[in-house]
Order: sequence, then structure tokens, then C-alpha cells
Amino acid sequence: MAHETESLMAMQAPSLNDEELLRYSRQIFLKQWDLEGQDNAKKAHVLIIGAGGLGCPAALYLAGAGIGKLTLVDDDVVEISNLHRQIAYRESDVGLPKVKALKQQLQCLNHNVKIDTFQQRVDEAWLLDFLDTSIHLVLDCTDNFSIRSALNRACQRKKIPLVSGAAIRYQGQVALYDFTRAEQACAVCLYGEGEMPDAYCHEAGILGPVVGLMGTQQALLALQWLQGISRLNQLYVLDAQRLIWRQLSAKKDSQCPVCSQ
Ligand SMILES: [Zn+2]
Repeated sequence: MAHETESLMAMQAPSLNDEELLRYSRQIFLKQWDLEGQDNAKKAHVLIIGAGGLGCPAALYLAGAGIGKLTLVDDDVVEISNLHRQIAYRESDVGLPKVKALKQQLQCLNHNVKIDTFQQRVDEAWLLDFLDTSIHLVLDCTDNFSIRSALNRACQRKKIPLVSGAAIRYQGQVALYDFTRAEQACAVCLYGEGEMPDAYCHEAGILGPVVGLMGTQQALLALQWLQGISRLNQLYVLDAQRLIWRQLSAKKDSQCPVCSQ
């Protein structure tokens, strides 16, 4: 262990101190991540919309990985019926704003991460105002069609990558929309207008690990994008009853009302 850390320190990463080198050593040792990847993670600002079943695992893994700044947005408070799947919360958090409870957990996990919170509902006007070049990546961790739709339009317009997740019953899907690249399809190309996944767990039911897998995969896609190894136009679909992942290729629609111009 001491030897590993010494060899990392010998490699020198100007922005990483000794504690960070030790903390992140297991990912720094990965080829394609190394010190440069860790440095990129430290400089990154990720916006997470939704602090529920998707947002909890996604935020925990991104904070653990050393993303420099996370901004959390959610208007909800923690309820007892959230605890089976929203893994950042404890019984003592019931009644607290989710962004406040999640920030507390993330700061306990990694004090190096700067965390901003907004306890509010997101709409397109807020997104267009808030999304600027200081935000490198957005995670859509909501369960709401109108916010999903607004996020797709706003991120496409601002050319900011969007990692979208959804889960309901025994099914989930995840996609990275890398809007920095011209050939990237948007969610309307994939699903059509008015057809994006909309999941209300209180009506349809959900198992905790199913939504947890989706949030975890969102974090993985976010880290891959930061590493520069993400694949374009892929949709990942989970059938959790049979434990089968399918990977579907998407194509940009030349007539898409959102992204064709
Ligand atoms: Zn499109």
C-alpha cells in the first residue's frame, strides 16, 4: 500500500495532494484513468437534476470518484416510502429536503467535493438560464416527462452532454447524449415527441436495486465521458426480471424538431 502511494506521488500531479492521491489510488492505477483522469475529475462540474432513486447512487459514486463540484437540484423532501431505494437517506432524514440530506451524506463521504444545492422544481427557463460553460455534464435523474423533455432541449441547445436514466417496475434504460458532437442523436430522435420514458414509482412500483443499477450506470457513463472513452448514440436497456442488458444503437433523425438544425 505504502509502496503504491509512493509510486503515485513520484508521478506528480500538481493539483492533487497526498490525501487525494491515496484516496483515489485504486482508480488512478487504471489505464485510461490515471493522474490525468483524476485531474479532469477534480476540475469537473456536474449538475444532477433529481435526488431520488437514480440521483442518490449517481451522486454517491461521483462524489466518491472525486468530481470537483456537484450541483444538486430537487424540490422534494425525504419520505418513509423513499428509503427502500433512495440509498443516501436514513430514517432520521425523513421530512428533510432531499438536497440537504444528500449534501450531508456526500460531504461525509468526501469533503473535497464542493456541493451546491437548489431546493426547487426545474423548468426550461431555469435550465436555459443556469446552464453555461461552467457545467461540463448534466445527469437527468428525474421521473418526470416535462423535465426530461426540457433537459433534452436545453442541453442540446447549450451543447452540454446529458446522461439520462429511467426505471420502472423491472425495467430501466440509460443513455448518454454527447451534445458536444454534431452526429449525436437527441431523446426526441430516439423516442419521438411525447414518448420519452416517464416513470412514477408511486403508481407502478419499483425494486430498489433496479433503479440503483440505472443510477450507478449513469455515474459510470459520466466517468467514461470525462475519460473521453464514451460511445456515441447508444441506449442501454435492462430487463431486471431476466437480468438481461440490451445495447441499442440510435441514429440522429434528420427531421428531428429539436436537433436537426
Ligand atoms: Zn433529435
